[in-house]
Amino acid sequence: MKNTTGDRISLAEVARATGAGLGRFDSADVARAMSRFETSHVGSEIHPTVGDISECLFFSPGDGRIWLQDQRMVLLHTDALGSLRRELVDTLGIDKARGLFTRAGYVGGARDAQLVRKQWPDAEPQAAAIAGTRLHALEGVVKVELVHASYDPETGDYEGEFIWHNSSEDDEHIAAYGIGGSPACWMQVGYATGFVSTLFGKLIVFREIGCRSMGEPHCRIIGRSADRLEGVEEDLRYLRVRDFVGMPYPVPAMKRQADLPPAPGDTMVGASSAFNAACHLLHRVAPTSAAVLFTGESGVGKEKFATMLHRISRRADKPFVAVNCAALPENLVESELFGVERGAYTGASHSRAGRFERADGGTLFLDEIGTLSHVAQSKLLRALQEGEIERVGGTRVVKVDVRVIAATNEDLRRAVREGRFREDLFFRLNVFPIHLPPLRERRDDVPLLMSHFLQHYCAKHDRRVAGFTQAALRTLLNYDYPGNIRELQNLMERAVIVVPEGELIDAHHVLSSGETLDKPVLSVQLAGESGRLGQDPVATAPTAGPVARQAPLAGTLPEVEEALMRQALAQARGNVSVAARTLGITRPQLAYRMKKLGLPG
Ligand SMILES: [Zn+2]
Repeated sequence: MKNTTGDRISLAEVARATGAGLGRFDSADVARAMSRFETSHVGSEIHPTVGDISECLFFSPGDGRIWLQDQRMVLLHTDALGSLRRELVDTLGIDKARGLFTRAGYVGGARDAQLVRKQWPDAEPQAAAIAGTRLHALEGVVKVELVHASYDPETGDYEGEFIWHNSSEDDEHIAAYGIGGSPACWMQVGYATGFVSTLFGKLIVFREIGCRSMGEPHCRIIGRSADRLEGVEEDLRYLRVRDFVGMPYPVPAMKRQADLPPAPGDTMVGASSAFNAACHLLHRVAPTSAAVLFTGESGVGKEKFATMLHRISRRADKPFVAVNCAALPENLVESELFGVERGAYTGASHSRAGRFERADGGTLFLDEIGTLSHVAQSKLLRALQEGEIERVGGTRVVKVDVRVIAATNEDLRRAVREGRFREDLFFRLNVFPIHLPPLRERRDDVPLLMSHFLQHYCAKHDRRVAGFTQAALRTLLNYDYPGNIRELQNLMERAVIVVPEGELIDAHHVLSSGETLDKPVLSVQLAGESGRLGQDPVATAPTAGPVARQAPLAGTLPEVEEALMRQALAQARGNVSVAARTLGITRPQLAYRMKKLGLPG
């Protein structure tokens, strides 16, 4: 594997080149890059070349694998894909099938953008952007011809127009349905959206404005930043899961809607396969009254899923009551859940219904179920088994019709083995388990979520933000998010508040709280030559410590510059003059750069 950042770069060189890596390009740059791309070869100085990209593809017939760098691929007959497509259209209807293919394409595009970023971290943005068209061609999907493309990092505006030749999707669509009235390159449009959005860290939406399936000689697509594309809601429909999950029952009355948490709580965003698998399960179980158990780390959106489950269920017009079991004091759990009769204990001055009664007819969401005491577990079990409860201090039995949804970030099976959780209760709750993957396992969704939260917090705090710098982007895309979506959400809110009006969010805006800084977030190179074949890609995923720790010299020039300055300052224990000498620049030069980066000095 080629490491294009392995050579040492002096700070003087860095300083000369700083600013060039910011990423503006126009059509002329792209055209130049495109022609260089065609003519240059492996070993050329501008990466990635068409040779570099072809080199990423390996066949390993001995063990039945094909690799595109660290991603496993398959060679699929277009006929097989066509038959899958036909069946999906026929069973799901054209709209849902289109959404499905668009999202599948998105995932492919996002993966390829990650490959380009990881593999050629210092590629010029126009070269990186073009790499997508070449990967798409290499994968046998479509031949891409550039009409024009430009990107302005200051405003975050992207504009592109391309012509597609030999679209494989059109071949299959036309074979099955003939010429029709709407575009058919769904997966390809998803791919372009996923690739460019991931590359620039901003939702850039592609739309097919003419298609061979509509009788045109070739397909024509345009791409724009989502906030600049008119009627973008229609395009986004195919990327977002909400409409895909659908509303099979009458939309709940406005009154109930108002009770539910507002955005971003009311939107589920994602296109990755892991996220969609969870949504499929949600869709299956929603119309039943089965108990559902959500599992997954903190911050993965369990409450959001629970809310959505209620909203698309038959109980949508009845109450949704959420209880965080961990937040209830031990001695109040019972009275909170089951209610209390007057005089039951000192201080119980009047009778009060518990959450079970308040949720009657609707849904009760019990978060952090693993923290319930044994006594509370027994009472809960009885409520679930008998469909009735007894208030604390009461003698009357109250019938309740409640659908229970539980959530936990604990391994309940282990809690059962260790005697901390009742096995019979576990089986009651675990009728329909849905595991929500951590964000690091659905990285394809990070750009979508970034864009979603950016929009949300700009509106909420009345701020105007242009977008992200490449450094911020690389940080956000490589970060592991131990706090999952909630952490990304917090990072985005903080960045929106910290960044100066109208400017780009930079890496230090995102990671200004410190605790996340020690993570290896600079672009990480995979292990050497032997890592390419026959090795579990997970083993070489971007957590690889020793490689990551050498990272200061892997990254964009501004990142390298900042890393070197931090290192010199640390070595000099904050003495700016000493650090400046180490770096071979003057004290005022260093002080100026530190100020620009917001480093304490
Ligand atoms: Zn087409």
